[in-house]
Order: sequence, then C-alpha cells, then structure tokens
Amino acid sequence: MLEFQIDPQSLEQWVEQLWRCAGSEDREARDTAHHLVLANLSGHDSHGVGMNDRYVASFLNQELRLNQRLSLAHDAGALFIADGQRGMGQSMARQAMDLGIDRARLHGHCIFGLRNSHHIGRIGHWAEMAAAQGLVAVHFTNAIGSPTMVAPFGGAQARFLTNPFTAAIPRPGQNPIIVDFASSAIAHGKVRVAYNKGVPVPEDCLIDAKGQPSDDPAVMFEANEEGGLGALLTFGGHKGYGLALVCELLGAALIGGESIHPLHFPKQYGIWNNMLVMLIDPGRLGQANYFAEELDRFVQWLTSAALSADSRMSPAQSSEAAAVASKLYPERVLLPGEPEVAMREARAASIPIDATTLSQLDRCASRIEEALGTSPGPLSDFSAMSRSKS
Ligand code: NAD
Repeated sequence: MLEFQIDPQSLEQWVEQLWRCAGSEDREARDTAHHLVLANLSGHDSHGVGMNDRYVASFLNQELRLNQRLSLAHDAGALFIADGQRGMGQSMARQAMDLGIDRARLHGHCIFGLRNSHHIGRIGHWAEMAAAQGLVAVHFTNAIGSPTMVAPFGGAQARFLTNPFTAAIPRPGQNPIIVDFASSAIAHGKVRVAYNKGVPVPEDCLIDAKGQPSDDPAVMFEANEEGGLGALLTFGGHKGYGLALVCELLGAALIGGESIHPLHFPKQYGIWNNMLVMLIDPGRLGQANYFAEELDRFVQWLTSAALSADSRMSPAQSSEAAAVASKLYPERVLLPGEPEVAMREARAASIPIDATTLSQLDRCASRIEEALGTSPGPLSDFSAMSRSKS
C-alpha cells in the first residue's frame, strides 16, 4: 500500500491553515488541528486528520458553524448543560472541558453535558485534559448524523452509531489510565478497510441484513435484494449493547441532546456528538493519599499477572498502537492508555498518511479554495511530505 510520511508539526500547520482559510479564528483552527493530529499520533487514524473531509463537507453545506461560543442552557454550579451551537467540536469540547474543570476545582466535582456539538473526535483527548489537572473523568457519548450502523443485542437492524465510553484515572507522576473505546465490536473504519482490500473481518463483529452472522464487510456497503444493509455488533454481546444504550440515553437524552431516533435526522453532512461528563477531584473526597497508594498497589499487582499464550491482542484491540506498546513492555499486560502513549513516541517524527486520505485532504483544500478563494494548497505539494510503501 502506498503511504506518505509527514512530520506532525507540518501536518498540524497545514490543518490549522486549512481552517483559518475556511474562516476559523486562530484558537479554533489551533484546537482543531491539534486534536486531529494528536489522534493520528496516538494511533487512532480513524479519528485523525482524515476527518477533515467530513468536516469540510459539513461546513460547506451550512451544517457545521465556525467560531461559536459555548452557551449555557442550564447552570446550577457543579451541574451545567452547555450547548455547542453546532460549532466545531474540537473548540466546543475544549470550551466545555475548560469550564467543567474550573467548576470541579471549585466544588470538588462537576457533572455537565455538552450537546449539539459537531464531532468531538477522540474522546480520550478530553479525558486526558481532565486527568492532566488531577481529576477523575467519566464520559458517556452518543453520536448522530450518519445512518445507524450498530445493532442492539438480538436485533437484526441497526439502532446506534458507535457510541463511545471513556474514563480517565490520574496517577500522580505517571501517565493516567485512559479507557476509551467505541461500543461496537470493531470500528466502522476497519470494516471499510477490509471491504476495500476484499478481506473478511474477524468473527462476531458483523451481521448481514437478515441478522445472520457474517465476516463479509460487503454487507455494510452493498444492499441486498430487499435494499437492506447489515450491521456491526456491539462488543461483548448484551454488555456492549447495554453500554451503547447508556451512552445514547445519558450522553444525549439526559442533557437535552438528540438521540439517533429518526425524528432528529435532517442533517446530512456533519457528524454530531452529545456527551455527559463527570469530573471528580480525589483530593476533595478526602482520599487523595489513599487513592494514590491503593491505585499504585493495585496496578503493580495487576501488571504482574502472567501473560496469556496468545498475548494481549483481541481482534478489536489489534491496533498498531497496542502492538507498539507490547514491544515496549514485553513482559507484562498493558494498562489502558499505554498503547496511545507508546504510539506517540513511535510517531513523534513522522505520521503515515495513506493515499486515499491524502487525496481527500487535497480535495478539502481545493473545495475551500473554490468556496472562499484561499487555501493552504494541496497537502501533497507540501515540501514536508515524503513517499513510502508499507
Ligand atoms: P480501541 O479498540 O483501539 O480501544 C482503545 C482503548 O483500549 C484505549 O483505552 C486503549 O488504551 C485500550 N487498549 C487497546 N489495546 C489494549 C491492550 N492490549 N491492553 C490494554 N488496553 C488496551 O478503540 P476504538 O473502539 O477503535 O475507538 C477508537 C477511538 O474512537 C476512541 O478514541 C474513541 O473515543 C473514538 N470514537 C469516537 C466516536 C465519536 O463519535 N466521537 C465514536 C466512536 C469512537
């Protein structure tokens, strides 16, 4: 497969410039570029710079609005609901997290909702922001905007997108534990890659339009004779289903946000998130010292567990990031969050961009140029790009 390499700083500069040309103020352009490039650096290319294609389409079709300020739909101090005004998710989530962190410092905890925001990307980013301030964070997020693609347990039709669950546990002087995953068995992006390559997906990830188990990615892209498509299964059967449902109802309905019910489906181009966040300051629970000691004790014991024969890779986790982290810590189980940290080291000098994503990014620049008369130019012309085969 043809791959291109670019250093993270140049890539971030290019994305920042793209959004400045589209009309974003400096801070918004910086927030967006930083978030997307950090997702690539962390090994989550599905949530990296490739998202620009969707964002640009959403912006040019008047769905995504630039330069929005968070407005408070409800404010009761340690409880608030922020409205994202259909603004750029990377800016709206950053503004909401800034406010939530300030309130958690003041009250010792804060529970807040962010609703009506454009895509907020890799949710771990927001959890890491809280952990960097010594706060525990729990996030339930729902996603809307695309046709549903994840089936409820026992169902043959999709009723969700890939609603993610995320939690952060800070560890004094060490990297936080970051648990951050979609509730589907595998990411939709991985099914697309398998479809493009003509290879099957792992078992227990997909059903066809009739609800039969399938490993054929085509069931998600080619309608059957009755016009039906297949669906992704949730991870862990009924357990992942329960979590997807909690994300839908607490991440959206509880905070006045839209569920993925068809009633709310007029948006065509953008992808939208609603998120419920709970922040806790361990010090204000009076347990800071015990928490840190017990955490340390438990993690040491946890990571002393003997390795299983087939090591630490489930099909859904077989990310490049987990493979890199396993090389770094070959003799022990990994902690959630470590694959991303290891990947940032591995990609510090150079991020790979596949040929399809590169051509989509070039198209983003030309669409912005066409609409607004200015753009950073195609990424493929950028002098910092180099070409390689993987
Ligand atoms: P994934 O399956 O790669 O799992 C990632 C999580 O598992 C991380 O916490 C990681 O540290 C941990 N992990 C991976 N391998 C591990 C191992 N061997 N041992 C211990 N821990 C391990 O993630 P995913 O489901 O593909 O989701 C990827 C990203 O997509 C997430 O950042 C998520 O927030 C994001 N997402 C966003 C949306 C949205 O609507 N904004 C929707 C779905 C997913």
